[in-house]
Amino acid sequence: MKVLKFGGTSVGSASRMKEVAKLITDGEQKIVVLSAMSGTTNTLVEISDYLYKKNPEGANEIINRLEAKYREHIDQLYATPEYKKKGMELITGHFDYIRSYTKDLFTLFEEKVVLAQGELISTAMMNYYLQECGVKSVLLPALEFMRTDKNAEPDPVYIKDKLHNQLDLHPGAEVYITQGFICRNAYGEIDNLQRGGSDYTASLVGAAINASEIQIWTDIDGMHNNDPRIVDQTQPVRHLHFEEAAELAYFGAKILHPTCIQPAKYANIPVRLLNTMEPDAPGTIISNETEKEKIKAVAAKDNITAIKIKSGRMLLAYGFLRKVFEIFESYQTSIDMICTSEVGVSVSIDNTKHLNEILDDLKKYGTVTVDSDMCIVCVVGDLDWENIGFEAKALDAMRDIPVRMISFGGSNYNISFLIRESDKKRALQSLSDSLF
Ligand code: ASP
Ligand code: MG
Repeated sequence: MKVLKFGGTSVGSASRMKEVAKLITDGEQKIVVLSAMSGTTNTLVEISDYLYKKNPEGANEIINRLEAKYREHIDQLYATPEYKKKGMELITGHFDYIRSYTKDLFTLFEEKVVLAQGELISTAMMNYYLQECGVKSVLLPALEFMRTDKNAEPDPVYIKDKLHNQLDLHPGAEVYITQGFICRNAYGEIDNLQRGGSDYTASLVGAAINASEIQIWTDIDGMHNNDPRIVDQTQPVRHLHFEEAAELAYFGAKILHPTCIQPAKYANIPVRLLNTMEPDAPGTIISNETEKEKIKAVAAKDNITAIKIKSGRMLLAYGFLRKVFEIFESYQTSIDMICTSEVGVSVSIDNTKHLNEILDDLKKYGTVTVDSDMCIVCVVGDLDWENIGFEAKALDAMRDIPVRMISFGGSNYNISFLIRESDKKRALQSLSDSLF
């Protein structure tokens, strides 16, 4: 059985839902994971924000606006009075429930419940729509099987067991619809797999049923070997190794949430990225197979800050790097690139929330310099160190560009350059010209 996941924009309106319904009713039995309709989770976050700030009036205004929008969706989605009525009752139920949270203490727990409503609504809407069209569709409640353990990590044994129980209740269905993103935690409370977590749900569900394929459907034109907004003449990437996808996931290659990769990789289930706008296009397949000695893609990430700590004390010392890294850890700031010499270390970060505190602390250990408005450009492909020529080719493409850091050897699939953001376009074009 396949698992198909559709993101928020793919189910973002009644007409888009109808398109998805066409794609999932080909007679093959499948599990379909849906996100909330686009914008909904953000709006629920906004509502929660008002409630944290003890402003129920502000919250109610947004709740009412969102509810009105949903009433329009319902009106457009269903054809028969029977289903229009069912749909309206569904919306009323969920929105009254959300409203009940404006009257009491609002904490993290209540927020999780409010955030869960988006996926609960979109899946129920789709399920009713399919039933109205005469499709044998069943809702699989994610809150009955999707669970995290005490470390807030998904619990694959529980998920597999409970998901099978749910499937066994409805053996003859054509389409099983379930909610992405939402789950229960180790204590049974409603929780979620973090923003964008629907891809993760799809991957966990795929692994739990040993799916033949996990399909991630979005409305963006599939994976390209460079950024089509910046570089002319990019080509689609048809095949990626899971590790290559993991490298690219960080670089705003917004096609796949990074967390989605691991469960599919371990279960050895291929993930296919597909485009709802072009359903017949082959898309991009991600698997454990490598295309030997091939460079797949170039990607870039902006808003990077580089920090250099230079210290005579680093020479022949041990423990210096630990002290430096601990400072970043204490401010919950993750480091992306690292380069070291005998007397200095440079790192890059993309979260500058605590930059000033970090710099203050680092000054205890050395002379600190900062370069902002930088950009990481990475080349991804089969870059095993024993393959020769790739580094030289990539470096050669950068010959006219000032390079602040170079990182190679961290994995077999990546070489990264840190350059000025203002040189990004030139760098991407030049890499494209010489690598593809
Ligand atoms: N609806 C959730 C979000 O917007 C989950 C998802 O779409 O993947 O983050
Ligand atoms: Mg999403």
